[in-house]
Amino acid sequence: MRTMFAILLVIDTFGSTLSAESPLEEDGIQNNGTVAEGPVAVPPPTEEAVRYYRTGIAWWGFNKVWELVLPAIILFTGLSAVIRARAQRLGRKWFFTIGLYWVFFIVVLYVVNWPLSFYLGYVRQHAYGMSNQTFQKWLLDSLISRGVLAAFGFAFLWIPYLLLSKSPRRWWLYTGLLMVPFLTLMMFVMPVWIDPLYNDFGPMKDKALEQRILALAESAGIEGSRVYEVEKSVDTKAINAYVTGFHDTKRIVLWDTIIAKLETDELLFVMAHEMGHYVLGHVVQGIFFFSALILVGLYFAHRIAWSLLRRFSDRFGFDQISDVASVPLMLIALNVAMLVLEPVGLAYSRHIERESDRFALELTRDNQAAAEAFVKLSTENLGYPDPGWLMTVLRASHPPIADRVAFCNEYRPWSEGEPLRYGDRFPADLETAR
Ligand SMILES: [Zn+2]
Repeated sequence: MRTMFAILLVIDTFGSTLSAESPLEEDGIQNNGTVAEGPVAVPPPTEEAVRYYRTGIAWWGFNKVWELVLPAIILFTGLSAVIRARAQRLGRKWFFTIGLYWVFFIVVLYVVNWPLSFYLGYVRQHAYGMSNQTFQKWLLDSLISRGVLAAFGFAFLWIPYLLLSKSPRRWWLYTGLLMVPFLTLMMFVMPVWIDPLYNDFGPMKDKALEQRILALAESAGIEGSRVYEVEKSVDTKAINAYVTGFHDTKRIVLWDTIIAKLETDELLFVMAHEMGHYVLGHVVQGIFFFSALILVGLYFAHRIAWSLLRRFSDRFGFDQISDVASVPLMLIALNVAMLVLEPVGLAYSRHIERESDRFALELTRDNQAAAEAFVKLSTENLGYPDPGWLMTVLRASHPPIADRVAFCNEYRPWSEGEPLRYGDRFPADLETAR
């Protein structure tokens, strides 16, 4: 669920979270065609990267189990019913009972999960040299994110519970359909109201670079595009860029770390990739795709939740799903459904990432810079370039780095006179200007 939301709310991150110590480079060297063009090789991961990757899989597996075990404990001990009783006493009205239950539930999860979050989000990241965060910043960010979650739940959780009580058999369908306007609203709200709670966003500092990016945007058929620079160097050494927002709040965001570490031609390829998401409409497409996926997930969650409730209602202390004490039951049911549906979402995500890579290559025709940008992501950082098919299917929102480099090395239909897949997306005068 968490992964699904991460995919939803930031439709694209350029690469997986990576990090490195690398000398800061000044303005990059342009690929003017005199550089010998050959296939770019992917160096094998360092020992530390292998260790980070393997322990990462173990923690991922642990989390998948823990996401089921913790709500199960809250349910089977009757704690959920106790929390609901307290919320009822305090809130009195139906609306406030649901809102307060959610807030209490979030607080319980936060407290119980604190040591685990602290280890994974702070200690482990520092141990591998990936984090720049102070403890205070980590703590503040973790409190803000729980606060945001509590506030959104307070504001919206009553809707599925109203549907549950009015239409116990079809609530999942209506809730799934409502995901479209809900996710659209989130896309409006996130970049403007939520993201700035964690980091400073501003216009690009390097005005010459900004001019080149805007020129590239124009050749990609994007007018009046917004490019933001975010000060992520206070948190991490990882490098990244992403597209977010909807309509008026749509934007491309560059982490300041990626500006510092990539050369200009590599950065322009990254921007072309993000512009690909923009021009190919992946944000809107993603809203519909993931709403449909959640709708299916809710249907299975509905079935699973009822079959568990019939058997264990005595232990749970409630006998209707429309009782807000069913929140942990719903979480278990949704997490089980997502075990099957998440790979579908990830496959879709890998597909749009490949298409954005294709778009970026067709726009820049700079295969060398593209492949080198990916190698840099992998070598300078703790990347694991070739995780194999199983881990790719289960975990990867982006194609493996090795695949992306191979694609960047090979894909050049223009040199064989073949048509471009996205040729019609570029303004007609681009060809003559080239
Ligand atoms: Zn992408």
